[in-house]
Amino acid sequence: MPQPSAFPGDTGRDGLAPVLVSACLAGVACRYDGRATPQPLVLRLVEQGRAVAVCPEVLGGLSTPREPVELRQGRALDCFGVDVTAAFYAGAQAALELGLARGCRRAILKARSPSCGCGQIYDGGFCGRLVTGDGIFAALLKERGLAVCTEEELADEGSRG
Ligand code: SF4
Repeated sequence: MPQPSAFPGDTGRDGLAPVLVSACLAGVACRYDGRATPQPLVLRLVEQGRAVAVCPEVLGGLSTPREPVELRQGRALDCFGVDVTAAFYAGAQAALELGLARGCRRAILKARSPSCGCGQIYDGGFCGRLVTGDGIFAALLKERGLAVCTEEELADEGSRG
């Protein structure tokens, strides 16, 4: 018998398809600061065997922990000015391919990350200021037609229930 979807109100045809998720939301300690940020609905997808957890920054060859990165004029720069743009794009592409190979058509991504952030990211000044925009991985997924949301949007939707 199929498991109920982790998505509130999800009755669509994609309801039981695998979902691409930011690995840190699935409990993997892959953030720049060496921590995870597990999110209950994403953990439920993992339990159901329906999550494809990816960390584009790790897939791009970056180590954990690592220096924080923000996007500035299309480039990914760490807080010392080291340019890691190539690693970000390579990892985003690798993560996309993993998701497509598993048939994912949508993604739940970590809010505000320079890779995974969707709709809002930090402005590149390392001072906590937010601007409208997407992280490099989120932008690539949107370009390829995947539906993308953050864990915060998902939590809001769930609480409206
Ligand atoms: Fe999480 Fe994405 Fe950052 Fe990896 S790149 S730690 S998955 S937000």
